[in-house]
Amino acid sequence: MAKKKSKRTKKPKRSTLVKKLDRLFSAVIHKRDEGKCQMCGAETGRMNCSHIYSRRCSALRWDLLNAILKCVRCHKYDKLAWHQSPLSAALKFIRKFSARAEYLKGLEDRQELVKEWTIPELLKQEQFLKDKLEGLDE
Ligand SMILES: [Zn+2]
Repeated sequence: MAKKKSKRTKKPKRSTLVKKLDRLFSAVIHKRDEGKCQMCGAETGRMNCSHIYSRRCSALRWDLLNAILKCVRCHKYDKLAWHQSPLSAALKFIRKFSARAEYLKGLEDRQELVKEWTIPELLKQEQFLKDKLEGLDE
């Protein structure tokens, strides 16, 4: 009995860790971008952590430069939103964030890369994001 319990606490489930990392990542992006839509400047309403390269690209899922905070209009619902008109949204992003766009362009070859995160790597990433979140408090 006791052995089973300690084993459970030692080895976290991958899916639980991934969800935890997604929440942590989103919290870092919200804080870093000061709760402000990086596309239109809105400061109120619902905000989303929006990935540039899809989060399905697991290698870049928690790359801080691969996400920005967007209001739901700019992210999903506006005619020219990221999910409605990807090309025009991407061109706007490139104009607005040219340096970051260059960095992301350099990752283009990695876009299809599916990284198989090991549990220790996920735990390391969790600590990195926790430190980042704390660092943003200062
Ligand atoms: Zn917006």
